[in-house]
Amino acid sequence: MDFGSEVIAWYGLNKRTLPWRDTRDPYLIWLSEIILQQTRVDQGLPYYLRFRDAYPSVHDLAAASEDEVLRLWQGLGYYSRGRNLHRTAKNVVADYDGSFPVNYETLIRLKGVGEYTAAAISSFAAGEARAVVDGNVFRLLSRYFGIDTPIDTGTGKREFTALANTLIAGHPPGLFNQAMMEFGSLQCRPKNPDCGICPVQAGCHAFRAGRVHELPVKKGKTAVRDRYFNYIVTDDDRGLLMNKRGSGDIWQNLYDFPLLETSGPLSPDRIVSSDAFRGLFGDRAVITGITGPVRHLLSHQRLHAVFIRIRNFDELFSGENGWFYAAKDHIPTLAKPKLIFAFLNNYPHLSS
Ligand code: SF4
Repeated sequence: MDFGSEVIAWYGLNKRTLPWRDTRDPYLIWLSEIILQQTRVDQGLPYYLRFRDAYPSVHDLAAASEDEVLRLWQGLGYYSRGRNLHRTAKNVVADYDGSFPVNYETLIRLKGVGEYTAAAISSFAAGEARAVVDGNVFRLLSRYFGIDTPIDTGTGKREFTALANTLIAGHPPGLFNQAMMEFGSLQCRPKNPDCGICPVQAGCHAFRAGRVHELPVKKGKTAVRDRYFNYIVTDDDRGLLMNKRGSGDIWQNLYDFPLLETSGPLSPDRIVSSDAFRGLFGDRAVITGITGPVRHLLSHQRLHAVFIRIRNFDELFSGENGWFYAAKDHIPTLAKPKLIFAFLNNYPHLSS
């Protein structure tokens, strides 16, 4: 048996039952692929089911408001994916009359659809012979064939994709792709791969050469930037003062609190006595509570957030910042970053 056939045979015995594997509907496959980008299957599964139930067709998703979509996306992170998902649904309805494309060349032109996703949809929905190369496939190929080319470089991506595209020949494309990804995910895992019971062990270069833990090679990690967020939580009877985030930074169009960002950590007392704070809230404000610092990791940023609850503030901010009072029963309907709703979960009296 060749390598591909071995992997497919293994898949028949070991695959997980996942709802997006039962469909050839390109819309549902696309939905699952976008949700699963940079997300573990167990984390993405409930989101997939929620979106599928709320928006069974691309028309339903296109007709939703962005706020609704982001609210459903809440907690999954990488919110630009949620916004692109919505925008793409609208484009498919407008440009393709709601008939979701299935061929690679058309799919690749859709917003938020890269080579990987286009290959996945075209092979699963239409049987196009396009190899899907995700992190699991990179690792499996790198180890099995003993390839040292860094996987996070353009050269590496081209080399591994070309190899996968030669291996797919002669196999049902959708099945081959699913099998390769599942094998990499469950059998040839990043840590502690199951080499002892691996059906392709005899031909595996890394196993024979004792290099399993050296492969795949990565060129370098992206630098992570520290940011210091001082959130001002207005704890009074009018509800909470909220902020809709603008473009050009993380969490576009999500809701958080008025924010004073500093270049390093500052004590809440110094924040409240700073000119920036006084310019927004006056000089009568008193601190009623402090939470944090809370560390929150994003892909390229490390946030250090402090939540400063205040009372007795002046409304100097009116109209200038796009802030608004949200009634307590309205707050749960706003799409918020995980950092914010985790804070609110700890203080249920602030939002009902
Ligand atoms: Fe992966 Fe180990 Fe199998 Fe090689 S022998 S393909 S390293 S699980």
